[in-house]
Amino acid sequence: MEPQDRGNITSRSLVAAAFAVLLLTAATAGCIGTDRHQQDGEIVVAVTIPPEQEFVERVGGDHARVVLLVPPGADPHTYEPPPGILADVAKADMYAVVGSGIEFELAWKDKIAALNHGMLIVDCSRGIDLISTGEDGHRGTDPHIWVSPRNAKVMVENICQGFIEVDPANADEYRRNADAYLEELDALDREITGALARSGVTKIMVYHPSWAYFARDYGLEQIPIENEGKEPSPRGIEHLIEQAKEEHITVVFASPEYSSRSAEVIAREIGGTVVLVSPLAKDYLANMRHVASAFAESSRP
Ligand code: ZN
Repeated sequence: MEPQDRGNITSRSLVAAAFAVLLLTAATAGCIGTDRHQQDGEIVVAVTIPPEQEFVERVGGDHARVVLLVPPGADPHTYEPPPGILADVAKADMYAVVGSGIEFELAWKDKIAALNHGMLIVDCSRGIDLISTGEDGHRGTDPHIWVSPRNAKVMVENICQGFIEVDPANADEYRRNADAYLEELDALDREITGALARSGVTKIMVYHPSWAYFARDYGLEQIPIENEGKEPSPRGIEHLIEQAKEEHITVVFASPEYSSRSAEVIAREIGGTVVLVSPLAKDYLANMRHVASAFAESSRP
């Protein structure tokens, strides 16, 4: 083990220890947040990733205040929350977990739930057909369910049911808000289906394999560059360059959350470009529209 690695592990243990102390303090302070619905009518909803923030804001409207646990630009596979976020989570009425096995939730969901016994946990993945995977750095199931607008509809429905359970007095409003957003997701789905069908693109080359659910819905195959969560070997890069040439790929996708040195190398070798697309942007509808049109222009079929 390199000395640098030891340093990282020590600082991680310190964060965990600080979290444990705060957890104990919150517990002995007398079960914060036992009344599920706040007095002022504001529904505080914790979410893991930025796209869920849009889902919750659209369904909750003026009633909702979102506590985002993994901030923009952070990687939910490795992010650890600063202890300060706990004060906010302790006030939440509901925590909408992605629920598909993303590492942040595997590590922190139970600890966060223990801080606030009155909080409703909504599993946004309920009803979604998860993709199993034994490679590409995600053992078990692929956690990136939200990148499919069809899955997003299921997530929004689960969030809507959560709002209705927490605040039944405003059930009609949550239902109306959800239906309006679900219609926009349907329109997005139709638009992406059309754009990708017209493009003839069947394979996309991506640094981090975040797009399996999108690929499944729209008849694409993702070719990941990252290997077991790391940069590929020189031989792996050679193989990817050959594949990209065979498939007439002209764009290599990376995301702002991950490094893309090997993506740059491959793009240079095929005379193409690297385009950044985020699977985690908060403005979900606009971002997915942008992603779909970028994918549609990424090879010469
Ligand atoms: Zn990922």
